[in-house]
Amino acid sequence: MDVNDERLPVAVLGATGAVGQRFVALLADHPWFEVREVIASARSAGKRYRDACEWLAPGALPARVGELTVRALGDPVESRLVFSALDASVARDAEEALARAGKVVCSNASSWRMDPRVPLLVPEVNPSHLALLEAQTDWPGALLTNPNCSTIGLTLALKPLQDAFGLESVSVVSLQAMSGAGTPTLRTLDMLANVVPLIPGEEEKLEAETLKILGEFDEDALQPADLRLWAQCNRVPVVDGHTLCVTVQLEDEATEEDLLDVWRSFSSAPQELELPTAPDPVVVVHAEGPAPQPRLHLDAGGGMAVHVGRVKSRDPRTWQFTTLSHNTLRGAAGGSILVAELALALGRLPGLRLSVE
Ligand code: NAP
Repeated sequence: MDVNDERLPVAVLGATGAVGQRFVALLADHPWFEVREVIASARSAGKRYRDACEWLAPGALPARVGELTVRALGDPVESRLVFSALDASVARDAEEALARAGKVVCSNASSWRMDPRVPLLVPEVNPSHLALLEAQTDWPGALLTNPNCSTIGLTLALKPLQDAFGLESVSVVSLQAMSGAGTPTLRTLDMLANVVPLIPGEEEKLEAETLKILGEFDEDALQPADLRLWAQCNRVPVVDGHTLCVTVQLEDEATEEDLLDVWRSFSSAPQELELPTAPDPVVVVHAEGPAPQPRLHLDAGGGMAVHVGRVKSRDPRTWQFTTLSHNTLRGAAGGSILVAELALALGRLPGLRLSVE
């Protein structure tokens, strides 16, 4: 199928949730993709989309999608391209079934991220990992994933440093927004003027996924990055935006100007291909002051950029900085759409071809 004057029909799985709603909002005016099917649990199936979901995304619910009837998971899917924002409890089987039915599934769920056949993509960081799709010989479709929301901000900040100076170790403390816990979110009183120092499974994901994404191919097999990484994850009373306090040990010595330069000049395949959802710049550098802050800086670059600030040195190889990225845009729906754009533009999606000028 060609993406030509007509937009490519897509289905959104888990369309009624926090991330699903972001997909619906972001795709409303997308030049290549159009939401034609919305799928959720039996609780929502049969209702009009506008009645099935409590709309929480910024802006109005797109009128045309609001009139679509929500289908149940397991009902036939017509669209060739499927974005999944399913709860992880059901994502694994549902996404595999769709790949076996020939669909291309771009998933936000954790179920398939660490499978050696499945690319775990941050398009600016590891576009070459699309080659893993060749290992998916068990089904005619394809499974592509994007990482955990905090991993995306971390890898976007680390990749320019890894390329320029090498990385020996990374220690990261996260301050993660409540919207990362989905809908319904944590009980309000749990989060009022409070910090919860445990997000089950998050530290393990942040560590393992970062090493896979920063890894390289060695004789056709993807080898995880050889660096030590420690993560501590906390839920904080912020609506959107994950902040990370990062300490890195570089292989080579660098100055502050060196670090700021490599972040400012970082650009990759999505920018070269001018993909519709690609931010430019990728890394927004805050050289001075109390920045980045979720309430002030989160929406720059359409919520797709990563912010870096509070850069300071312990010694020429040991550096500390703070990052901020949008967890439901760059960290979920926006990141997944960028994955689909990249794979489509590079001709890596079975049965789908881009033919725009
Ligand atoms: P959510 O708000 O709880 O939404 C979950 C969605 O899955 C809803 O549409 C729900 O439909 C559907 N669902 C649940 N159980 C189902 C079932 N048995 N059959 C079919 N559909 C079912 O969760 P979320 O925050 O949007 O997260 C969705 C996925 O994205 C998760 O895997 C999460 O780990 C991942 N993710 C989230 C973030 C974030 O910042 N929130 C970031 C990155 C990745 P109903 O409304 O009908 O129940």
